[in-house]
Amino acid sequence: MSKFIFVTGGVCSSLGKGIVASSVAAILKSAGLKVAIMKLDPYLNVDPGTMSPFQHGEVFVLEDGSETDLDLGHYERFIDAPLSGVCTVTTGRVYSEVLEEERDGKYLGGTIQVVPHITGKIMQKVEQAAKKMGVDVLVVEIGGTVGDIEGEPFIEVIRQMKNKYKDDLVSLHLTLLPYLAASGELKTKPTQLSVRELRRLGIHPDMIFCRADVKIPKALLKKVGYFCDVPPENVIPAETVKSIYEIPLRFEKHNVGGILAEKLNLGALEPDLTKWEEGVAKMTKAKKELTIGLAGKYNELDDAYLSVIEACKSAGFYHDRKVRIEWIDTEKIEAKDEEEMAKLESVAAVVVPGGFGNRGIEGKIAVAKYCRENNKPYLGLCLGSQIMAIEFARNVLGLKDATSEEFDEESKSKNHVIHFIPEQKHIKRKGGTMRLGVYDCKIEPGTLAHKVYGKDLISERHRHRYEFNDDFLSHFDNSDFVISGRHPKSKLVEIVENKAHPYMIAAQFHPELISRPFKPHPLFRDLVGAALSAE
Ligand code: GLN
Repeated sequence: MSKFIFVTGGVCSSLGKGIVASSVAAILKSAGLKVAIMKLDPYLNVDPGTMSPFQHGEVFVLEDGSETDLDLGHYERFIDAPLSGVCTVTTGRVYSEVLEEERDGKYLGGTIQVVPHITGKIMQKVEQAAKKMGVDVLVVEIGGTVGDIEGEPFIEVIRQMKNKYKDDLVSLHLTLLPYLAASGELKTKPTQLSVRELRRLGIHPDMIFCRADVKIPKALLKKVGYFCDVPPENVIPAETVKSIYEIPLRFEKHNVGGILAEKLNLGALEPDLTKWEEGVAKMTKAKKELTIGLAGKYNELDDAYLSVIEACKSAGFYHDRKVRIEWIDTEKIEAKDEEEMAKLESVAAVVVPGGFGNRGIEGKIAVAKYCRENNKPYLGLCLGSQIMAIEFARNVLGLKDATSEEFDEESKSKNHVIHFIPEQKHIKRKGGTMRLGVYDCKIEPGTLAHKVYGKDLISERHRHRYEFNDDFLSHFDNSDFVISGRHPKSKLVEIVENKAHPYMIAAQFHPELISRPFKPHPLFRDLVGAALSAE
């Protein structure tokens, strides 16, 4: 049977509950336990698939095609294991299922209430997740902040599950110790109040994690313990660090694994964080910068491209370089803004990430043209691969109005080198249109892709509607534009590259989703490699 660790947050949002949940899970995993992490999100959207990355950050896609929020990306990067759609539940999903059951008459005319029906459904989902993932420990992060109206049913679930699972469930609470510059001290009152609120809801935290931007004196941790009725050794400092990947190491210095093992009767644990130590040491060692241009739509919004940025950074560390992201505004490129063009010229490599809709498309095509003509290392991700094909068709093959069906709503062009394919035998599409989740790709021997991956068959995650149009194949034949990977069954195009260029390669999938902090995805690793050889 699985054990449960619940993580709640207090005082304010953005403290990094996801990182605490991930770090705790990473420690347990390093001790040989099987762990998974689940997110319970109090918002009313059924899933984040339709939420704007402007507001909500990137949509992270799992192997099974579930569209989740970026926390699941952190989870996977920390525990280096794929999660499943059962690991993400929102209030919207819970309500829609309960209401559907009500319409089906499953409640036999009974009155449906938040407690017990909504809470019962949430509990069922947590238990199902533990069972499906087959884990020793399921870490469950509750979104939002204790005291939020929407969050109450979730806190109630912890209370009910504590009754049921007793010593097999612990709850961790993350709070903030704000620093008052005038008096030069960190304050504990907001933490006390937050824990008081938690206790009002029937939860007594087993451990408290205190965020602070400055070093927390030991006496203060003791004070938090005293006022919140938690043993002082269970109050863990979570001071701001340079890299989030240092956090498991910091926590382990405070015996987090040992405390959890004792609370949950996990036996004597021996976490082995050697890989983390080595990885963090490598990150700290990298001093020399390398600039990668990110030609996206949500400029300067790190969260909208979180996995892409993480993949670039870890690729940098692999080569002992610290990657700096230069945002390239493709709308400005479209307007031939000289400053923006100068940025493009100055970066060591370019990534054209995924995206939807028309905005900045011509600028992206101009970016691809610049990279092709100037041997600038280029990595296209999903939309970035479609852009690469369109640019080549227009400027090399002479199909002047080549475009994607997506950008040509009025069907003015006959040259849709990228087009829409309805549901077909080997490709399931969500809502009939969106290709989601993992698909195999067979790589052509002798191509750059084959060199990068070093294997014939790979498997990568997708989230897109449009595909390369094979009707135009004869135009691309005998050109430098090579199709180096296809889905073995449907034959859909997965990887394209330019054989006359040192490193111009693009994928219809999202390699950034499976890149890891200490094990960069090969496409990113070799993008940085190519930039370095050009230095
Ligand atoms: N908009 C493109 C499509 O739907 C690309 C999607 C993406 O980059 N994720 O095919």
